[in-house]
Amino acid sequence: MRARVLVAIDGPAGAGKSTVAKLLASRLDFLLVDTGALYRTVALAAQRAGLSFADDEQVGALAEGLAAERRIHMEAESQGDARGVRVLIDSEDVSSFIRTPEMSLGASRVSANPRVRDALLAMQRQAGENGGVVLEGRDIGTVVFPDAEVKFYLTAASTERAQRRMDELLAKGSAVSLEETLADVNKRDRADTERPIAPLRQADDAYLVDSTGMPIEQVVDGMVRIVLAKDEELRRGRNL
Ligand code: C5P
Repeated sequence: MRARVLVAIDGPAGAGKSTVAKLLASRLDFLLVDTGALYRTVALAAQRAGLSFADDEQVGALAEGLAAERRIHMEAESQGDARGVRVLIDSEDVSSFIRTPEMSLGASRVSANPRVRDALLAMQRQAGENGGVVLEGRDIGTVVFPDAEVKFYLTAASTERAQRRMDELLAKGSAVSLEETLADVNKRDRADTERPIAPLRQADDAYLVDSTGMPIEQVVDGMVRIVLAKDEELRRGRNL
């Protein structure tokens, strides 16, 4: 049994997962693990190797090699008020290369590859096994940690998600239109929910959180209450 709860946050692109997960982790003083960064890193490695994202054979072999030789790994870093992780290839911090629209679509494509998903599984499980952690992604509550003590499925209307994604990209200096961003968001949602392996879906025991029109702080307040109640329950159970 874990000493502290493990929190799984899944949901579609732009639902505010990363903002919410970061606030939640910092309020709880839990480690924050953004699992999308791993898929983005595989996409980056594939691009650097001159591979097509759709080449399942080669990209699968690449991901397996990188994981087996521990060439892709996570390292703790502080992210504002939260304790988070960054992803490295060998000793290179790739954070600044993986947050582009191209790597978003690349990650979405390579993440449909079962060999890539398998290669990244052990790393994610290792990062969360002791609890006291918030993991965010698409299949944390369904595949990576089906036994997570608390699961949230975070969503919002697609236009609002596109608007948020566009604001994030603009803040980083990328000029994109709302139409373009909405098309990307819809394309990724379709690919993530329709893939045969680990598709994006709400786990049966996940809390559904729809943040459409809700201030983020209010969303997080409710989530913090749920996690603390569960954490308390876990501690009491251990002391029995
Ligand atoms: O969350 P983020 O936008 O960084 O994820 C990029 C892509 O990685 C997603 O569109 C999804 O296809 C994939 N992903 C996944 N499973 C996860 C996390 C991300 O398939 N646990």
